[in-house]
Amino acid sequence: MQIIQQILFIIALGVAGYFISKRIGIIKKTIQLGREENRTDNSSQRWATMFRIALGQKKMFDRPVVGIMHFVIYVGFVLINVEVLEIILDGIFGTHRLFAPFLGGIYSSLINFFEFLATGVLLVCVVFLIRRNITKVERLQPTRHRELNGFPVIDANTILFAEIILMTALLTMNAADSVLQDRGNEHYHQVGTFAFSGFLKPIFTSFSDTGLVAYERIAWWLHILGILAFGLYVTYSKHLHIFLAFPNTYFANLEPKGEMPNMPEVTKEVQIMLGLAQPDATASTEIARFGAKDVKDLSWKNLMDSYSCTECGRCTAACPANMTGKALSPRKIMMDTRDRLEEVGKNMSDNGGNFVDDGKSLYGDYISAEELRACTTCNACVQECPILISPLDIILQLRRYQIMEESDAPASWNAMFSNLENNQAPWKFSPNDRFNWAEGLK
Ligand code: SF4
Ligand code: SF4
Repeated sequence: MQIIQQILFIIALGVAGYFISKRIGIIKKTIQLGREENRTDNSSQRWATMFRIALGQKKMFDRPVVGIMHFVIYVGFVLINVEVLEIILDGIFGTHRLFAPFLGGIYSSLINFFEFLATGVLLVCVVFLIRRNITKVERLQPTRHRELNGFPVIDANTILFAEIILMTALLTMNAADSVLQDRGNEHYHQVGTFAFSGFLKPIFTSFSDTGLVAYERIAWWLHILGILAFGLYVTYSKHLHIFLAFPNTYFANLEPKGEMPNMPEVTKEVQIMLGLAQPDATASTEIARFGAKDVKDLSWKNLMDSYSCTECGRCTAACPANMTGKALSPRKIMMDTRDRLEEVGKNMSDNGGNFVDDGKSLYGDYISAEELRACTTCNACVQECPILISPLDIILQLRRYQIMEESDAPASWNAMFSNLENNQAPWKFSPNDRFNWAEGLK
């Protein structure tokens, strides 16, 4: 019986490992579809940013209560995985609490600490479910934010329920284990009663030995299979940010937020027009694309941003365009980019690694001209994002395409553009008249 359990466990581990690594490969490949962008400078500043923002969750603490709750889930998730290592080794070798004989009294303290975290995670998940579904925090409501309709709401609730089930399995498993220890069952090491699962022991005292072992095994399998399934599910979910927040903050834009990246070719043209530069006869006049029409025109970092987005909606809650009822939601920009990227990735997998034109693009099919025009470029979304994502960077590139290739701009903008082109100023006065205002002055 024991050997069958071990074989089943190794098969489950292998299947989960295969699908998780396959999915990671697809995500990596789709991120690499983006155009080149160098984000390897200032490595010490980048490490410091990553430690402060991803590990220390600094921006989450802008709202202290939610920040603390999120921190509990995060620490719980990271540290409880140390116990998962023991569970995996137990599963492979058919042992029970493999580390207990080696760690002595420390083992009991560690499990007590993990139980403390598990209880904290469980309680916070309940609070988060209440915030989403009962007290209805505005930025998380699909009735107000259309991008949350369908899978995003189910995804958020699924993960919270899954965490509650996993933590309950862990605590009840320990409680049943503890009762079996009290009864002197030889397979269950004497490691004592644990601080939190100890409260659950009365539930199990009326169970027979066979019933207790069966329950303990079911909870053990539920816990570990749940973690493996969770590991795979996360790669399809907004919870991918658990992992991607680290590289995403490391490769964040370190330039001042208000600095908008120009296209060097266009800057050169303007400089030539203003007499500040000379035409370069040897330079190529070919420009692949002005701005971005589809995900492949965006940079790899824009694409990584889209996979990292937590869908928290802090950007949308701070967006003045959204607040005033415009169609724009920076969270939707990130979610649309990810959805289109997934579509392009699937297209490539279905066609032997080559993209076959599907007649669609991020601009137009996912993000409308109306949304792009509503952006004031205020940077509030960038300022608010807890993991340093820039929806504005994507908006600017799409808008550059919209205006420079589609010539799709309101008449008032076009008038300003032609004034800039002809008069080097937004107004319709000749540059020669620029100092007329000073005539007659001393
Ligand atoms: S930069 Fe644009 S999208 Fe971001 S908050 Fe401002 S108006 Fe909204
Ligand atoms: S872009 Fe940032 S702030 Fe906006 S939803 Fe995603 S993670 Fe949250």
